[in-house]
Amino acid sequence: MHNAAFEALGLDYCYIPFSVHPDLLSAAIEGIRALNLLGVNITVPHKERVMPMLDKINGEASFIGAVNTIVSSDGQLTGYNTDGRGFMQSLSESGINVRERNVLIVGAGGAARAIGYYLAQEVKALYIYGRTRERAERLVQDLKKVAVNVSTLQDISPADRFHMIINATPLGLRDDDPLPLDTGLLHREQMVCDLIYRDTRFLREASKRGCATLNGLGMLLWQGVFAFELWTGRRPDVEIMRKALADTIS
Ligand code: NAP
Repeated sequence: MHNAAFEALGLDYCYIPFSVHPDLLSAAIEGIRALNLLGVNITVPHKERVMPMLDKINGEASFIGAVNTIVSSDGQLTGYNTDGRGFMQSLSESGINVRERNVLIVGAGGAARAIGYYLAQEVKALYIYGRTRERAERLVQDLKKVAVNVSTLQDISPADRFHMIINATPLGLRDDDPLPLDTGLLHREQMVCDLIYRDTRFLREASKRGCATLNGLGMLLWQGVFAFELWTGRRPDVEIMRKALADTIS
């Protein structure tokens, strides 16, 4: 999607994936300076470990505790996180309003942090349910710095108190994965989201229960749009990016 947007704007850049071994992360980051790259995206498992290797971290990425975008300027590397904004933009373009809503996030990793940062400031109440209780509690303590109505849950049921339920775990990346929660608990007034960028079994089951659903494709698109703007200072053609993304994923 980035290459399509560069081409449409006549920008002489290209976007290339590199698979970086964790032991060579700092060498790869130094390589950004050495090769005079404009910037990079960072994905799992490097999003947190990369932070001390950068010259600056912007406020939002620092709060979230993870970086997905690095901008290189005059040899200075600055880390950003565009995942949370990407998710909020995908909700908004789908006409979904979270104000006055009770929202449950399942998972307490980097993506839950990124979306939690924004959701906590908008929703009526935000609940975090994580497999590792201490990690979920740490996230809630951090989110309480930006909003008061945030808490952990020991038990998801009764689930009818949530207007929106979001899977922020990797469960569903493979079709034989267990579901992130018992879909028998869902009912038709609920909105169910998955950050995985295709319709997972969780979303299909939720849809059968009559729930409205949203996958992570819009989030993937918009985090990329915001990263593009950080690198180039230009607004890309979002529809060109959306089409390139859809063509790649289908
Ligand atoms: P992460 O930092 O590794 O966190 C994963 C979270 O899921 C942790 O809380 C982990 O629990 C939990 N988890 C993992 N396996 C589990 C299992 N078998 N049962 C229950 N909980 C489990 O990963 P992440 O970066 O947050 O990514 C989470 C998901 O979001 C991934 O599917 C990723 O592809 C997706 N994502 C999508 C976008 C997009 O643009 N659409 C952007 C970012 C991420 P523990 O704390 O116990 O380990």
